[in-house]
Amino acid sequence: MIAQTTVRPSVWIGCLACYNEGILNGRWFPAEGAGEVTPEDLHLGPTYHDELWIFDHEGFPRGTGEMSPDTAQLWGEAFDEVGEEQWPALLAWVETGCYIAEGDDLPSVSDFEERYCGCWESFADYAAQLAEDIGLIDGWPEEAQRYFNWEAWTRDLKFDYTVADAPDGGVFIYRSF
Ligand SMILES: [Zn+2]
Repeated sequence: MIAQTTVRPSVWIGCLACYNEGILNGRWFPAEGAGEVTPEDLHLGPTYHDELWIFDHEGFPRGTGEMSPDTAQLWGEAFDEVGEEQWPALLAWVETGCYIAEGDDLPSVSDFEERYCGCWESFADYAAQLAEDIGLIDGWPEEAQRYFNWEAWTRDLKFDYTVADAPDGGVFIYRSF
């Protein structure tokens, strides 16, 4: 397994009224607390400004557009559930488009955990390990083992999986069904 670098999901929350007056009033928050940020937090006291907006974010799937602080919070909760180590794999799963979504297009963490097979050097590597684990050709005559068509077997196996390039090298592998 290849370790990947994780960027925690974070959002830059700012005050919309201040922004419209030309003042950048905001800061970064961990996504899991985004829904609890209040205008008073940003103005360090009472204010009549009441609309918060996410101006920037990191640690989300590529192509993530605008979202409300409440949606960011749901992503943060998914991060807490999945954990730092597997977060890059979850993001890549969403980016493939072949992921299971629940409300608000958020990925279903339980489906992810059920389908994720790890980060490997290549799909062939994963296939070879799987063949060993299930004893695919155990007990076959030596000649049959020698002529077994690994390439074709691996190619067929791949139809049941979704494979995504991992940012720090290798591939993430997920069962499709
Ligand atoms: Zn303001």
